[in-house]
Amino acid sequence: MSTPIQCPICAGTGLVSRPPWIAGDIESYTTSTTGPYPCNACGGQGYIMSPPPIPFIGKIPTAADYNDGRLPDGTQARKDNPK
Ligand SMILES: [Zn+2]
Repeated sequence: MSTPIQCPICAGTGLVSRPPWIAGDIESYTTSTTGPYPCNACGGQGYIMSPPPIPFIGKIPTAADYNDGRLPDGTQARKDNPK
């Protein structure tokens, strides 16, 4: 089940001042068009459907859990592939 929530990108306005095709970490850009632009995240609706909640299946491993090479459930973590 998902519910509509206010779009975090445009704050519910459906419009953004930054061209949607410009990456968020680009601080300066030039464009031949002027804003505001329709929000890409919500399609100009101002809201998005929240994803269904992720089932919580247990404790989230932290760095400390890996220090002894074991996962929280006692299984041995792989050491041949640190990623
Ligand atoms: Zn939006």
